[in-house]
Amino acid sequence: MAAKFLGAHMPTGKGLGQAVTAGHDMGCTAIQVFTKSPQLWKSKPVDPSVAQTFKDAVAKTGLNEIICHDSYLINLCAATDELREKSINGLIEEVQRCALYGIRWVNSHMGAHVGQGEEVGIAKIIEATNQVLAETPTEVGILMETTAGQGSSLGATFEQLAKVYEGIDQKERVGVCLDTCHVFAAGYDLSTEEGYEEMWARFDSVLGLNLLKAMHLNDSIGAFGSRKDRHAPIGEGAIGEGAFRRLMNDARFENVPMVLETPMEDEGHVKDLAKLKSYFA
Ligand SMILES: [Zn+2]
Ligand SMILES: [Zn+2]
Repeated sequence: MAAKFLGAHMPTGKGLGQAVTAGHDMGCTAIQVFTKSPQLWKSKPVDPSVAQTFKDAVAKTGLNEIICHDSYLINLCAATDELREKSINGLIEEVQRCALYGIRWVNSHMGAHVGQGEEVGIAKIIEATNQVLAETPTEVGILMETTAGQGSSLGATFEQLAKVYEGIDQKERVGVCLDTCHVFAAGYDLSTEEGYEEMWARFDSVLGLNLLKAMHLNDSIGAFGSRKDRHAPIGEGAIGEGAFRRLMNDARFENVPMVLETPMEDEGHVKDLAKLKSYFA
């Protein structure tokens, strides 16, 4: 059985509702969006009419597997109190906005320890996440995204994510989003059949496959183990099409939403989506 919820990160320049409609027109059954500019701290309050247009588009298209990607600025284990507080408030606002839009998950790069060490970083992430969850509507959850391990980014190993998860109070509101480029760069070789199975066996034993709530489908410009977060079009990077062929037909993941974050130039997502669908057995 092939992946049922497949799509791409959609631009929201024409509005959040338009992103849903455009995604649907492109053949997406899942999409990811930003609900504000990811490069800025500030955000505008959610306009009720924009929220309504978004909900109408979801109802009309039936496209309701939607993930919000959080701001790139957020670092839940930032070294200074000022930056950490801004990050916690930023993530609280991301979750609150999603509640108003009716979006189930906020995908988050949890943080980089910036020299404080892994242990301190993880403890701070746990504390911050618990605060965010305690202060936000329960219908929205947070997805911890796997990272490439660039710099001092945490979340590059399943073990690190499991440590964070262990400390979470409201566990039913936390899951994992696996990014294929990031895990490959971090040292999980899903490019071979054997490595692919090994990675998922490891994920299952350390985290449990039921924690996998979404995937980012990206090939990798960086080599295996390079710890570089650079996305390539599907089948054109160091991972190659085999891994994506396997993912498209892996019955374990048929209900897991999968979205592309590959380069968007020259209709990149349209081409990559067509490629993925051509892999259906
Ligand atoms: Zn990603
Ligand atoms: Zn990335």
